Amino acid sequence: MIRHQPTLDALLSDVRAFVRHQWHPIEHEVEKRNEVPEEMVQELRQRGYFGWSIPEAYGGLGLTTEELILAAFELSQSSVALRARVGTNTGIGSEALVADGTEAQKQRWLPAMARGELTGCLALTEPDAGSEATNVQTTAHKEGDSYVLNGQKCYITNAPIADVFTVVARTETGTRGSNGLSAFIVERGTPGLRTGAPYQKMGQAGSPVSDVYFDNCRIPADNLIGGQEGVGFKTIMKVLNKQRMHLAALCTGPAVRMLYLAMAHTQKRQQFGQPVGNFQLMQAMIADSQTEIFAAKSMILEAARARDRGEDVALSASMCKYFASEMCGRVADRCVQMFGGAGYVADFSPIERYYRDVRLFRLYEGTSQIHQLNIAKLVLRDHAL
Ligand SMILES: Cc1cc2nc3c(=O)[nH]c(=O)nc-3n(C[C@H](O)[C@H](O)[C@H](O)COP(=O)(O)OP(=O)(O)OC[C@H]3O[C@@H](n4cnc5c(N)ncnc54)[C@H](O)[C@@H]3O)c2cc1C
Repeated sequence: MIRHQPTLDALLSDVRAFVRHQWHPIEHEVEKRNEVPEEMVQELRQRGYFGWSIPEAYGGLGLTTEELILAAFELSQSSVALRARVGTNTGIGSEALVADGTEAQKQRWLPAMARGELTGCLALTEPDAGSEATNVQTTAHKEGDSYVLNGQKCYITNAPIADVFTVVARTETGTRGSNGLSAFIVERGTPGLRTGAPYQKMGQAGSPVSDVYFDNCRIPADNLIGGQEGVGFKTIMKVLNKQRMHLAALCTGPAVRMLYLAMAHTQKRQQFGQPVGNFQLMQAMIADSQTEIFAAKSMILEAARARDRGEDVALSASMCKYFASEMCGRVADRCVQMFGGAGYVADFSPIERYYRDVRLFRLYEGTSQIHQLNIAKLVLRDHAL
């Protein structure tokens, strides 16, 4: 749903200009320094990009799903570090509060997240809870008007720089799976909360990811999201169903950018007395990539509109994440091919970096295999004889 086309058009053209004129020139530097410069974070704050998905009542833009997707298509035509810097606040780091937070919780944290003064993150994954996301071992025991958390989270995007952690923990001893899980907000600075050193990753330099440790970490009972125990996984599934579409859109922008770069290269690079882009075998790769980008955009927009209409999008969100992340991997591979040797050498093209950056898309927020299983489960359920 688009609420007001001229307002949205102004936002999209602002993002487009920002990405091209301010972000693209510093991408390589961000990779080398492994950090998004503070001046750039400040710029993102001033432009209001941290607040895209936070309701207007809490200082955000309150974008609908369709509007968020269109904005994400633009923002992600860049190295992943850019959109990952704002992306936890516009996605998994704020959405549990938006979906299920109490009024007091929303008032307390969302305005500062919308302004980008607080950075959020989602701490779900653990050493023994990856694809089996409900196998959470972190515990939260109630003691008076506090909860005491113990356990370890891993692979948490933006944990090293986060101020606010959405944490899934087991509140009911002896339960298994999604039963007995609750979601909490834990603030940086709480005694007993510690984040590990940022990992050395394959790609996405400038987007810090680390472990999170809870060692008798005592938080106010008021930090239980929604004020209700035992429904944490339902909250997280609301977050993930929206986020899968958001991430699918964020997988599409890099594919657009890579194809643009590859087309520019094939039109310039001469072999056999002509641009290599004249050769039909090159053109086949361009055609396949453009067709897949169009397919991804179409399905994501369709799913986003369905969510805005209030329809159940569990199946379509899973299909979008699966298709768009795999599509982006295929486009990345073709683009390296179109660049030839220059596609493999960071000194000669940014494609080498993009190829590494986008590999993660097929792994996080549900691996491709988990989405295949989920899609098949939901389709078979609807076609039970
Ligand atoms: C850089 C990075 C950032 C991340 N950010 C976050 C974050 O912000 N917050 C967060 O909570 N988590 C985050 N994650 C965690 C991510 O979501 C998990 O890594 C992912 O869900 C896969 O879990 P795993 O790594 O334990 O793989 P595993 O579950 O160990 O899977 C290993 C392999 O087994 C396959 N497999 C597993 N089960 C099945 C099955 N039933 N059938 C078929 N195949 C199966 C998988 O597809 C995979 O190929 C991040 C991960 C990374 C690497």
